[in-house]
Parts: sequence; C-alpha cells; structure tokens
Amino acid sequence: MLAVEVEGLRKRYGDTLAINHLSLTVRKGEIFGILGPNGAGKTTVVECIAGLRKQDAGRIRVADLDPQSQRSKVREILGVQLQECKLPEKLRVEEAIRIFSSFYRDPADPEKLLVDVGLADKRRAYFENLSGGQRQRLSIALALVGQPQIVIFDELTTGLDPQARRHVWELVESVRASGTTVLLVTHSMEEAERLCDRLALIDSGRTVACDTPAELRATAMQALGRDNVTLEDAYLRLTGKNFEVAE
Ligand code: ADP
Repeated sequence: MLAVEVEGLRKRYGDTLAINHLSLTVRKGEIFGILGPNGAGKTTVVECIAGLRKQDAGRIRVADLDPQSQRSKVREILGVQLQECKLPEKLRVEEAIRIFSSFYRDPADPEKLLVDVGLADKRRAYFENLSGGQRQRLSIALALVGQPQIVIFDELTTGLDPQARRHVWELVESVRASGTTVLLVTHSMEEAERLCDRLALIDSGRTVACDTPAELRATAMQALGRDNVTLEDAYLRLTGKNFEVAE
C-alpha cells in the first residue's frame, strides 16, 4: 500500500527548474528519506506533496488523494513540519499545542502528546526559553497534533548538538512505531543511514536512485569494486558530484 506517489513532477521558479521529472513512492508504515545536498529540490517536493505549492506538471497522490483539489482532506491525514519551527516568543508549549489542536476535528490528547515528545515538564515554558532540541520536539508535536497517517519532517535535526539529535531520532522512530508513515527530508547522510528504511537520492531536481541505504551502498560497492562504501560514495558515483554538507 502506498502512502505517497509522485510521478513526473516538474516545478519551475522563474528561470530555475527546481524539480525536473521527479518520481518517488512512499510505502505505508516506512520512514522514507529524501536525501540530497542543499538546493537539490527536497523542500519543493514536500511542499508540493503537502499541497502548499502547485506543481507545473506531474501527478501527486497522498493516500490516493490529490493535494491540490482535495486539500482539506489531505490536511486531515498529513502532518507537516517544515524547516525551523518559529513561534511567538511568549507562547507557552501547552498553548501552542492547544491552538494547533483547535484546527482539527479529532486532535491527539495533548497530555499524551506532551509526554510522547518529552515536553511534559516544559508545558508552561515560553517558546523563547526552549533549547533547539526542545523546539524541534515541539514542532514534531505540532505536526502530530491532528493524528496524521503520514507526517513530513523537513531538516529536523539541522543545527542540533549530537545528544539532542539522537533524542529527536529516537522520537522519529517512536512516531513510526506508532503506525505513522514518516517522510523525512534531510541533507545528513548519517541521519538517512540511521533512520530511513528507504531513500530517494535527489540531485538537481531528479531522483537518481531509490532503495534501502544498504542496497544503495551495495550497488556502489559492486560498481566501485571495493568494500567500505558510504552513502556519500554512492552519491558521487551516481551524480559525479561531491555531496557538500552545509551544516
Ligand atoms: P532543498 O530543499 O534541497 O535545499 P529547494 O527545494 O529549497 O531545495 O530549492 C530547489 C531550487 O529551487 C534551488 O535552486 C532554490 O534556489 C530554488 N528555489 C526554491 N524556492 C524558491 C523560490 N521561492 N523562488 C525561487 N527559487 C526558489
């Protein structure tokens, strides 16, 4: 069963062809990664999937729904966390959850959500006083408040220290364990390797390969005729480009 289908997607911004005939499919229940360097087109793809941008060409289905013509239905089943979470400084954690809950017919239990994301003891804290990791955990809670079947996380751990990063990774794994399909946008090879069941490697608006991290490495290992091949080597082999990580 497919959670998300993208076929022949094209999106242009003025002279920039950001997405060029990109296809991918996300299966129900998996953590699917969209991995590529900055500027590859990752955010544009997920914004189109979420119905926040209209593609110039191509077909998108989210659980068989069209994000453009069936936007309100898609909102009920798709949670979105896009890049850095910015909220008013004097908004308290529990207030943010309450406000976002009011957008949904059947919201998650706010108490359970606070416990699940590890912010129960921060419920009264102002947004401005949260650490980077706590802000990201709040943004995960806000993406989950509508009890979505599918959730998109975009660059969730960029800028976090290693410990906060690990906590966020564990949280993403627990989200999947609860039955939610996760679509994860990242430019971190380490994150992709650690979390994703399958990955689409994206270069210049196209999917250059889509497989499990192990299979992507195995294919590159065979082609390169050596062991110890990383995802970075696989990317270089497929695109001829170094994967420049700007963290
Ligand atoms: P990524 O998420 O992989 O960093 P993006 O989807 O943000 O990639 O961007 C893909 C390309 O489209 C880049 O060349 C970027 O500069 C361009 N782009 C993205 N958003 C806009 C926009 N709103 N206007 C013009 N160009 C954009």
